[in-house]
Amino acid sequence: MNHTWTVNVWGVRGAFPAPGAAFLEYGGNTSCISVDYGSGIVIFDGGSGLPELGRCLKDRKVREVHILISHLHIDHCLGLFPFPLFQDPHARIHLYGGPHENMSFRKGLEALLGSPYWPLGLKDFPAHVDIHELLPGAGFDLAGTEGSSHPITIRTLAGNHPGQSMLYRMSQNDKSVIYALDCELDKPMEHSLAEFAQGGSLLIWDANFTEAELEAHRGWGHSTWKEGAAVRRMAGVRSALMTHYASGHTDSFLRAQELCCREYDPASIFAREGLEIRI
Ligand SMILES: [Zn+2]
Ligand SMILES: [Zn+2]
Repeated sequence: MNHTWTVNVWGVRGAFPAPGAAFLEYGGNTSCISVDYGSGIVIFDGGSGLPELGRCLKDRKVREVHILISHLHIDHCLGLFPFPLFQDPHARIHLYGGPHENMSFRKGLEALLGSPYWPLGLKDFPAHVDIHELLPGAGFDLAGTEGSSHPITIRTLAGNHPGQSMLYRMSQNDKSVIYALDCELDKPMEHSLAEFAQGGSLLIWDANFTEAELEAHRGWGHSTWKEGAAVRRMAGVRSALMTHYASGHTDSFLRAQELCCREYDPASIFAREGLEIRI
């Protein structure tokens, strides 16, 4: 079986949502991208784009999802609070993520979801929630696809980000998506990421900063579209999808950046909310 995968973009912002008329074309929600692999769905990050995806899943009567969280910074978890599937007693939600310094993924989630920040805690949701603790460098078959002759395989890599982020590679047969948000490149990171992404189908990339902004914000844990295009070439990935735009980058600003990027690397595209890619 070699299903076409459908990649859908639900949120493209980093740091904080960007509401308002200047952000309508690319979108103002924070990071959330889904990959429908035919017999199931993987969701990368639970940013503010997640509730809209949840409404679509409810309409389609999808009841089991796998949410891979890159890290617990609020822009990657904001959409978990109102995620409609948490309210469905028949839903099964798998949440995957790594520790933040000495705090386990579960402890981090419990601190975030619940009193005093939200009226409901993880234990109060009617849905069945499975927490999967990951460590960077781990590889595993997605729950429910283990033992199948074509499992969905997930590999992880530590990203260079304050408190560390988790980068993911999702593969099945010759297809793979690499999700590399919230990661700042240095030589060792560039080398390990190029190896991690080798021969992939789609590299989803942190295009938070311009080159000048990056120089002014070293250590903030982000990168540029130009670095993404370079890693894509180095790793022989078919195309790169730029996302995680700084909240202040308006549509007109991003349009200009996108033109430069397309000239530099025609195989790199800029994400917009509502974009669908088939691989
Ligand atoms: Zn972020
Ligand atoms: Zn972050």
